[in-house]
Amino acid sequence: MKAATKYVKNVFDTLKTTLVGLKITGKYLLQKPITVQYPDERLPIPNRYRGIHYLEQEKCIDCLACARACPIDCIEMDAVRHGKELEWISFTLDYQKCMFCELCVYPCPKDCIHMGTEFAFVSYDRSEFVHDLLSYRGMSRDAKTRMLEADAKKKAKEEAKKAKEAAQAAQQAAQEGQQTARESKPEGGGQG
Ligand code: SF4
Ligand code: SF4
Repeated sequence: MKAATKYVKNVFDTLKTTLVGLKITGKYLLQKPITVQYPDERLPIPNRYRGIHYLEQEKCIDCLACARACPIDCIEMDAVRHGKELEWISFTLDYQKCMFCELCVYPCPKDCIHMGTEFAFVSYDRSEFVHDLLSYRGMSRDAKTRMLEADAKKKAKEEAKKAKEAAQAAQQAAQEGQQTARESKPEGGGQG
């Protein structure tokens, strides 16, 4: 190939590849950016995400079922019993060891230990990875909202059930009253 022809071909190839590149750039230039400005913005997290645990302390009965189920012994708890009352001292989870397997959640008889949607874990001090779940630390705002909504729904359901039972009891009492009144009426009343 002559030098002049080779030169022209090189110029042509350069222009061609530049245009191919610009075509791809142009395609993305008109699209909406998909960059998420973390931590100010976050992508939605699925409900089944296994993030940092949270504990509904008032439901927990200190039965140790979650701690026994943990394959790497990262849950420890300490509480003093005063009759039926529990005085909590600590309920810790060591995230230096936890592998987020969720095995501690299933055996809980009170359904009070959960894995939340919070995942951010940054610290210069390893001791900070031992979380005290009594402080509800780690519970995401969404999870907290869901929990409060579920509690409110449950309360409303219980109140509706109680109201229904009270209405039924009142109706039954009224029927019994009518029955008694009918029975106590003298037979053949009205004949002189
Ligand atoms: S998620 Fe798994 S490793 Fe972590 S505390 Fe629960 S059972 Fe243990
Ligand atoms: S299994 Fe549930 S109720 Fe029992 S200690 Fe763990 S969190 Fe509390």
